Amino acid sequence: MKRQAKKILKSVFGYSSFRDSQEEVITAILSGKDTFTSMPTGGGKSLCYQIPGLMFDGLTIVISPLIALMKDQVDDALSKGIPAAFLNSTLDPDKISKIYSRLYRNEIKLLYISPERLAVEGYLEKLQKMNVAFFAIDEAHCLSEWGHDFRPDYLFLTRIRDTFPDVPIAAFTATATQKVQDDIIRILKMKSPFTVRASFNRRELNYQVHPKTEVLSQISAFIKDHPDESGIVYRFRRKDVEKTASYLKTRGIKALHYHAGLSKEERTKNQELFNKDTVDVMVATTAFGMGINKNNIRFVIHGDLPKSMEGYYQETGRAGRDGLDSNCILFFSTGDIVKQQYFIDRTEDPGEQVKLKNNLNSLVRFATINVCRRKQILEYFGEEFDGNCGKCDVCNDTTEKVEATVDARKVLSAIARTNEGFGINHIIDIVWGADTEKIRSRNHHNLKTFGVGKDKSKRWWRGIISELIGQQKIFQNSERYNVLTMNESGKNILFGREPFYISGATANGAAKGGHEKTDRAKLFNPGGPADKALFKKLKQKRTELAKENNVPPYIIFSDKTLTNMARLKPETNEEFLYVSGVGDKKLEVYGPHFLPVIRAYLAD
Ligand code: ADP
Ligand code: ZN
Repeated sequence: MKRQAKKILKSVFGYSSFRDSQEEVITAILSGKDTFTSMPTGGGKSLCYQIPGLMFDGLTIVISPLIALMKDQVDDALSKGIPAAFLNSTLDPDKISKIYSRLYRNEIKLLYISPERLAVEGYLEKLQKMNVAFFAIDEAHCLSEWGHDFRPDYLFLTRIRDTFPDVPIAAFTATATQKVQDDIIRILKMKSPFTVRASFNRRELNYQVHPKTEVLSQISAFIKDHPDESGIVYRFRRKDVEKTASYLKTRGIKALHYHAGLSKEERTKNQELFNKDTVDVMVATTAFGMGINKNNIRFVIHGDLPKSMEGYYQETGRAGRDGLDSNCILFFSTGDIVKQQYFIDRTEDPGEQVKLKNNLNSLVRFATINVCRRKQILEYFGEEFDGNCGKCDVCNDTTEKVEATVDARKVLSAIARTNEGFGINHIIDIVWGADTEKIRSRNHHNLKTFGVGKDKSKRWWRGIISELIGQQKIFQNSERYNVLTMNESGKNILFGREPFYISGATANGAAKGGHEKTDRAKLFNPGGPADKALFKKLKQKRTELAKENNVPPYIIFSDKTLTNMARLKPETNEEFLYVSGVGDKKLEVYGPHFLPVIRAYLAD
């Protein structure tokens, strides 16, 4: 069975090996077990149900919430030679009855259905008459109220198990939390399911946080450095979305905008133009998100601080779905904290307020402390990671380090002399020598450390403390009012056994409040195609074919596949099959179009 799955992987999808977890999931589904799979966006979930779907005798039902996406998903399957069809409210009765006759003739292996369609009276019973092999529930987090995208429609899926007690169910989601997982398993009434949690590490994403100064020109400079790349720019407010899009246009960048204030027609049109690579950049609020299936997005820029880590992970996750290196840039300024605080203060529900505040804090921490960004993201999702990823601004920090041992010892001494009983602000007040009620009432103005740092700004001391926390020399104890405590490695610095360094950025930022000039070329280094000129020609051919067939270009070949092609330069059918992403069907349909381009190029 495994051998056959592998064969299909090559012949239908054109890939030579499975990714982490894919094989496990497929084996479990094939053995007839219920399965729960959480995998990050771009991890390759669809293949996990498509391969068993092709191998099983009967029909595979795929439940997918995004009507707008369904056609693309089916087109994509058809382009690989997988007999697929979809049923949703966009089809007219004539088309629907045609699909039914094909279903009864067993001509369809994969049927995509929207949950709202399934909920139509008597529909599940109708499916009972067909030989259903298994149900695949995509975006299964929509079942859970704890998820970020609860859909009441999805609750109907609880009836699948009642109607089909013996047909296995496979649930897929990119949301990692345990609560959501428990909900999904309970609501779908799964029988001791096989669960797989793939790593949430997106190796192809390069995470960068930069100080935000002139954000419009910063965004435009980045895009100008990455010509012909497709990307999304997120802004917090609609006004800024529009302003940014028109700014980029005046700079000659092909950009459009998207937010919930636009008419439905306009939104669909803009999304379509972006999808088809007619424009390069979409400037949007987070309303632009669910349902973007485009896999050649090379960068995601956040012009403002995102609202939560979950959101940030989802939004940046839209880049690099084809597995090629992509950039995630966050422009951060403390002014953004104030802006969000303003909204949080106006939230009525106190529970909601606390939640928003925690979300804000975790992002501020992410953006400010000097710890590998990837490590921080993964740890937020409960995954251990050593750091030193080599693909984030912290790990690639080439700016010089500044020694700050003396100042670190001043802070550590204040913490030790107050018996690790106070939080950040009070420790700063001691070192800086502030005259506050709290200092006086506790006699802290008589400490030896009091005022030893009055020659520097409070901001400087805050920077030193952030670095001490970031480098894990001291901790904020969340169970005891966030008081600061130190560990062994902190003590080593306090007693002069070890030096302490801070990043040049912290030193400059805290001292001058300014921002450092950065060498953009050094910071942004995405992996490029092997032969740029050939890649360009292949891309032109793809655009031409996409127009002719009225499908988005990536349905034909992803950027990754074209890059691979430009690297391998296949000249024969057999060589063409070596390209990752090319299976038998693609060879048959597209080989005759792309091979001549390569041959002509080589002959030149
Ligand atoms: P998800 O639904 O999890 O977001 P997709 O199923 O859309 O992800 O897959 C993302 C991309 O990865 C697609 O372009 C897909 O063809 C590709 N992919 C999936 N599995 C593999 C594999 N084993 N080897 C190479 N590429 C793969
Ligand atoms: Zn890193």
